[in-house]
Amino acid sequence: MSANLPGVFAVQCPNPRCRKFMLVEEQDRHNVVACLLCKTPIRIASPPRRPKTTPPPRR
Ligand SMILES: [Zn+2]
Repeated sequence: MSANLPGVFAVQCPNPRCRKFMLVEEQDRHNVVACLLCKTPIRIASPPRRPKTTPPPRR
């Protein structure tokens, strides 16, 4: 079985003392979820963006 579920993405707790990563379902994207550890409300406003990958060096 695969742990990479479709429609699920990771969010990080904004609390600097927590920083826990949690998996959030696609349906909760525009909702506010509470961190499982510190109960900090995490607003999930936009889909996660891919970090810019550095282009391969050209010769
Ligand atoms: Zn937290």
